[in-house]
Amino acid sequence: MSDDEKPTPAPAEPARRRMVRPPTGGTAAGRSMGGKIKTAEKKSISSIEWIKRQLADPWSEKARAEGWRSRAAFKFSEIDDRFRLVKKGSRVIDLGAAPGGWVQVCVNRGAAAVVGVDLLPIEPIPGSILIQADFTEPGVDQQLIEALGGPPDLVLSDMAHNTVGHRQTDHLKIIALIEIASEFAIRTLRPGGHFVTKNFQGGDAGHVLADLRANFQDVKYVKPAASRKGSSEVYLVALNKK
Ligand code: SAM
Repeated sequence: MSDDEKPTPAPAEPARRRMVRPPTGGTAAGRSMGGKIKTAEKKSISSIEWIKRQLADPWSEKARAEGWRSRAAFKFSEIDDRFRLVKKGSRVIDLGAAPGGWVQVCVNRGAAAVVGVDLLPIEPIPGSILIQADFTEPGVDQQLIEALGGPPDLVLSDMAHNTVGHRQTDHLKIIALIEIASEFAIRTLRPGGHFVTKNFQGGDAGHVLADLRANFQDVKYVKPAASRKGSSEVYLVALNKK
């Protein structure tokens, strides 16, 4: 998993701050991280290096200070500031939701229902339903729709796999997650709904882009400020499902 795929935090919502109440649920990332570093001798070298990077990262520091679960919260806040995806009463499905930064942003910006899924457990966030499951397993998609109680207005995917270090294998896994999230969004979103997915520059997701362009009125690329400069991470924002 690259740095940007790891759960971390980011800056605040400066210009148009729409957070109507403090981030909800669980402990701030920083508090739990303090505990983790003490047990570092039990962790792999890559885990220790990752924790050190988080502690040195200003976006992570800002997220800890503001109570966001991850620096990723700032990436989605920026995307939402630009496109106004979350509206009062929105119904949202968040794929790859742990530790919960995007869920926090959606709840704080007035979403009526947020269902998140992740391979990892997520500490409860009031106003959301959080399911631990592999989204690629059969039946999980239906489980999410049932938990939401109907079709979503917004589908988000920040899913990222743990890299195995073999370039082609990692590439195929990245593309597979983008494909399955896109297919789910196209199949389940109500007309006029929106979809955001993590993507990677240079990745061969051209066919996904073509599908999105065929099914949405507009598709934009976004590189949020909180996304590490050196990483190839970008986000695809598909607007207004036909
Ligand atoms: N957006 C999140 C936030 O704001 O806190 C951060 C998401 S993190 C970058 C990527 C997540 O994708 C990881 O927690 C990982 O477990 C999850 N993930 C990867 N593959 C998955 C799958 N097949 N099903 C569910 N979650 C998955």
